Amino acid sequence: MSTVRTLLADACRRLASSPSPRADADMLMQHVLGKDRTWIRLHEDDVLTATDRSQFETALARRECGEPVAYITGSRGFWTLDLAVDAATLVPRADTEILVEWATELLSPTSQVRVLDLGTGSGAIALAIAHERPGAIVTAVDASPAALDVARQNGARLDLSVEFLVSDWFAALNGRRFDLVVANPPYIAEDDPHLGEGDLRFEPATALVAAEQGLRDLRCIISAAPMHLARGGWLLLEHGHDQGAAVRDLLNARGFMTVATRRDFGGNERISGGQWPC
Ligand code: GLN
Repeated sequence: MSTVRTLLADACRRLASSPSPRADADMLMQHVLGKDRTWIRLHEDDVLTATDRSQFETALARRECGEPVAYITGSRGFWTLDLAVDAATLVPRADTEILVEWATELLSPTSQVRVLDLGTGSGAIALAIAHERPGAIVTAVDASPAALDVARQNGARLDLSVEFLVSDWFAALNGRRFDLVVANPPYIAEDDPHLGEGDLRFEPATALVAAEQGLRDLRCIISAAPMHLARGGWLLLEHGHDQGAAVRDLLNARGFMTVATRRDFGGNERISGGQWPC
């Protein structure tokens, strides 16, 4: 009998090479049945219909081939939001929520501050900030029209007002200034062996990989940001676990003040930022 319990146990065995077999199997089951985790726990002895069983098998086979769970289910939770994602966008990471947290600390709940998210992908950072700070005027850009489509749809579905523009970093923002600029740019070095492993194999290389040992886009953003920051405005950047010192040096050299770094949930340096002088 193909009960929820036996199918999940079998799925766990088949997903043994995933870092999270049980969570993956659970999320695929939730997706196929359209139920939450609690429902699944309470219905472990239910027998799946033939259609559900075949859909679960298809989803499982995709995951066995290494495809990220979020691309199979078409969504990922980020901050307090449920975001649609597809292969045009990076899968939002929990560590990026540290950047959102820092951003919300810098923005008062009601003031009409201008915020820019560079390389927004699924819109994760921009939408989380817009949700947390309704007074903020949020603009989000991405060089990929396909990614922006996903971000736009997320904004519409969540009823969050964000301006979405196709732009290669600041290219389409001539003369515009912001009180806060945030970005999770590509920062993985071209020869990093992790690119051949796990979920990274399926995510857009343009969202992951940067030249100059992963620092090229971080350098480009830090160099151009002062032309787009208001006096006293902040720049917050996600970066690789071993790039904290380099990013702080770049920020200090460009003239930013109060340069600091925050660690991710794994204890690694992950977000650095600084304030443009008043
Ligand atoms: N944090 C992601 C990872 O290392 C990479 C995201 C990025 O390059 N911006 O898996």
